[in-house]
Amino acid sequence: MVHTQLRARGIDDAAVLRAMGAVPRERFVLEADVAMAYADCPLSIGHGATISQPYIVALMTALAQVKRGDRVLDVGTGSGYQAAVLAELGAEVFGIELVDALTAFASRCLEKAGYTVDVRTGDGHGGRPEHAPYAAIVCAAAAEEVPAALVEQLAVGGRLVIPIGGAWRDATLKVVTRTEDGPTVADTIGVRFVPLRHPDHSLSSK
Ligand code: SAH
Repeated sequence: MVHTQLRARGIDDAAVLRAMGAVPRERFVLEADVAMAYADCPLSIGHGATISQPYIVALMTALAQVKRGDRVLDVGTGSGYQAAVLAELGAEVFGIELVDALTAFASRCLEKAGYTVDVRTGDGHGGRPEHAPYAAIVCAAAAEEVPAALVEQLAVGGRLVIPIGGAWRDATLKVVTRTEDGPTVADTIGVRFVPLRHPDHSLSSK
């Protein structure tokens, strides 16, 4: 996976490649999908959510430029895999996930794999102000616009990596950097993500 899916596509951050090689992805998929864990695609984890494609996790992690000891917020924790990669890099990771059953799933997977991550149920649009400021925030669901609360919870110099484009459309993966003079936004690649839902529309659980 590290060689054919990540290095071959231009991921060259040594720490990210090491972390992606170290986290046991098979611990973050449904039991029926263990044989597919390292496939070059997202996999369903139920509740309308997916564990992202390995390349996307690596790219978002590289864009977040996470260093050991950084405090990081993982929005849309899902399976917990992205959170595990951030923890493997030495970050202090907090997670927020809308679906209670996935909060429980992620917490269980993370604990079994040996990672300490504090995952809470809530609406990621609001972040987790109690632990701010964050050196980086990684969001695994597409928002219609950049949530102001997430930018506010970045440290100066901190980065928010987030797909913007709204529900069920192609989105653009953006990097919002908080500077002394306010946020700057850089576009990267086109991506497809599940939507960052508003809690009122979130009640269907497949
Ligand atoms: N990072 C995850 C990817 C999960 S897919 C992983 O590595 O497995 C995106 C997740 O965002 C889903 O679990 C979905 O339930 C969650 N989500 C959707 N809207 C949300 C919201 N408003 N707040 C928090 N999480 C949300």
